Amino acid sequence: MKIGLEIHVQLPTKSKMFCSCPTTDAPAPNTHVCPTCLGMPGSRPVLNRKVLEYGIMLAKMLGCKVADTTWFSRKTYFYPDMSKSVQITQYDNPIGEGGVYYLNGKKPIRITRIHVEEDPGKTKRVGDLSSLIDYNRSGIPLAEIVTEPDISTPAEAREFLGQLIEDIRHVIALPGDGERSIRCDCNISVGKERCEVKNVTGLKNVERALTFEMIRQTKILKAGGKIDRETRRFDEERGVTISVRKKEFEADYGYIDEPDLGIYHLKEMADAIKIKESPQKMALRLAHEYGIDQKAAKQLVTTSVGLAETFEAVAKELGVQNAVKWVSGPVSAGWKAMEARGGSPDDVVPIIRRFVAGEITDTECALEIKCAMTGESAESVKGASGDLDKIIGEFLDQNPAIIADYAKNEKAANKAIGFVMKQSGGRFSSAEVVEAVRKDIESRM
Ligand SMILES: [Zn+2]
Repeated sequence: MKIGLEIHVQLPTKSKMFCSCPTTDAPAPNTHVCPTCLGMPGSRPVLNRKVLEYGIMLAKMLGCKVADTTWFSRKTYFYPDMSKSVQITQYDNPIGEGGVYYLNGKKPIRITRIHVEEDPGKTKRVGDLSSLIDYNRSGIPLAEIVTEPDISTPAEAREFLGQLIEDIRHVIALPGDGERSIRCDCNISVGKERCEVKNVTGLKNVERALTFEMIRQTKILKAGGKIDRETRRFDEERGVTISVRKKEFEADYGYIDEPDLGIYHLKEMADAIKIKESPQKMALRLAHEYGIDQKAAKQLVTTSVGLAETFEAVAKELGVQNAVKWVSGPVSAGWKAMEARGGSPDDVVPIIRRFVAGEITDTECALEIKCAMTGESAESVKGASGDLDKIIGEFLDQNPAIIADYAKNEKAANKAIGFVMKQSGGRFSSAEVVEAVRKDIESRM
């Protein structure tokens, strides 16, 4: 089985690709439109330079060769959501070609090409006979990333897409939600001929659509049938793919060079653009450079690239051991809380520095980090932990049998741990409670 993907990413420009209409969420359908993005007679497209910059960034991220010169083509097809009957896209000389992406840092998925093009509008079906069309999306810039059919299973396609999207989000600072989306055309062949499932959104749906297609094609071939080359769509509710049309070939689109736009020389621009390290590459590098295992490195980067950067800063200055002990420990545990209150990780490194210099103890360091992450004062955290000791103390006073049982089997502590967790209503982490209960029991033995 062979699977290849065509991934469409809406680029985070402020205005559309060839006009100055905004790309933000519109208050109502057909409000962010103008003669250019509607393709009215006499209108002329003007290219948004940012589109080329984002295209180059992605091309570099994917290890593609960036073209020295590039231009645009008109792809002719009639569809109601494309009011011009032509889409401005790239056919010859796309921005980038011949890249490779390493899935899990290992398996190469070759990237055929990456080009930029304009998004069509949106069609919304109303009943069986009519549709409404919204052109707000028309002219929003897209990057299309095309892979070779190097993906082996639907689950692998999902994994690949997940990692790729994480990298793209970081490298071009794509917002995590909102209208801007990532859509995927999935090509899959079990036998000789392939089918394309158009416009699938979401990782889970990509896997579902491909799994359905895999089973459908396998059944046909087993029954001695033949797969037709065709375009299908995925019905999310029913979880099935449906034939839309027999697949057209590239020649059917009658591409011509876009006469309203010129040739763009990219070399200087491409040389000047430096891209951020992608999260997947960063995880691999951290594991390799600091000798931590890949899972731990991945965990840091997935929690936040900022956390991974803090890890690296501490590892460089104060040694890997301290980075593992403090950054992978309490800093990581408090990271989400810190982000949620709009805090910064800058305060953490000086605390660890003082610990390494012997100015504060282990316990003080842990406490100060916790305060830095949550924004609470040391007194309130201390007060809370005093509270914790009190709850545990009282419970053990009333249940002295636990101490004797614990000497035989440490699991006896679970009764006290369970009680305290319930009693404190989640104010303390389970690690804290386990630690405090053990300490108290052991002090009584
Ligand atoms: Zn416009």
